[in-house]
Amino acid sequence: MQHTSKLPNVGTTIFTVMSQLAAKENAINLSQGFPNFPSDPVLINLVQQALRENYNQYAPMPGAPILREAIAEKMKYLYRRTYNLETEIVVTAGATQAIFTIISAFVRPKDEVIIFTPAYDCYAPAVEANGGTVVPIQLKGTTFAVDWNEVRSKISSKTKMVLINTPHNPSGTVLSKKDMEEFSSILENTNIILLSDEVYEHIIFDDAQHQSAALFPKLAERAFITASFGKTFHNTGWKMGYCVAPKELMDEFKKVHQFNVFSVNHPMQIGIGNYLQDPQNYLQLPAFFQEKRDFFLNAIKDSRFTWKPSEGTYFQVLSYENITDELDTEFAKRLTREHKIASIPLSVFNTNKEDHKLLRFCFAKTEKTLAEAAKILNNI
Ligand code: PMP
Ligand code: GLN
Repeated sequence: MQHTSKLPNVGTTIFTVMSQLAAKENAINLSQGFPNFPSDPVLINLVQQALRENYNQYAPMPGAPILREAIAEKMKYLYRRTYNLETEIVVTAGATQAIFTIISAFVRPKDEVIIFTPAYDCYAPAVEANGGTVVPIQLKGTTFAVDWNEVRSKISSKTKMVLINTPHNPSGTVLSKKDMEEFSSILENTNIILLSDEVYEHIIFDDAQHQSAALFPKLAERAFITASFGKTFHNTGWKMGYCVAPKELMDEFKKVHQFNVFSVNHPMQIGIGNYLQDPQNYLQLPAFFQEKRDFFLNAIKDSRFTWKPSEGTYFQVLSYENITDELDTEFAKRLTREHKIASIPLSVFNTNKEDHKLLRFCFAKTEKTLAEAAKILNNI
């Protein structure tokens, strides 16, 4: 049988490649982003309770009311924006499903979608699978700053959507209030949809405030905001997330959502909905992860790697320019094979494969794992 691939240039995601290599080589896996410590037992108990209370049939299509209510409360409390729980909030199978569904619901063949590279790797294939054209804008050098004039110049009558991600994976940088204001002035008076991927909203450091699109009226009026409970509550394997958007946009989203999943895991929704009743469960996350970042960076302070401390996400980018000229993809593999530590090379997230000799390390790990990793890195 013959067929033509819709995604001829897509291979296996780097996260699978590096995690498999780490397992094969018995290496410490700081590549794919997931915690190696358990989720809060309180949350596990709440899910178990929901299973026993027989929340085992289909959840309502947009999500269990208790969870949508908790999401609405959280958005109001953190970002002072009201999302209607009947019409503007949908629970999804992770942020990945929300992102794919948003793009499918709006992007038509030949529509242009602007993404900032290095970009999380599910964005471009979702655009291309729907016939859209990706317009990449490269973040600058090793600072990952946005050139807003370049953004202005890349916007055209064909621009359907812009994707942003703050805190940013893979760089660990965040967009500032000034960035968001500038961005808002660019999108004002256009029909461009914003997809704001905010899965790391609760993982932000040094007392910085997360600049959600929800805080900026001219962004919020056109924005889907995506979030991930997997990232927030240390259970990436549950694949639970959600998105919020103004009703007119969410109506279109639901038309697709109801036919690609209809609804998502009911007992998990009930458990998470109950867990969210205590805001401390997410308010303590910046301090929790900052301690890990600082522990890791302190442990490698005498190594030959150099860095700017991560501003958000649970990833730390390290430069190896003082160590070798190898391509980052080669060096990441060699570190895994020879030194038994796995990371993610940044160039794979750049459309132009620009290589600044940077590797991303996940520090959502126990101190024991981070100390073992540091011992290896100090010897390189
Ligand atoms: N966006 C970014 C930037 C991510 O790092 C991830 C990975 N968690 C996702 C989206 C997907 O989230 P989920 O695992 O909830 O599908
Ligand atoms: N978001 C995770 C990361 O950046 C990976 C998720 C995945 O493996 N698809 O590492």
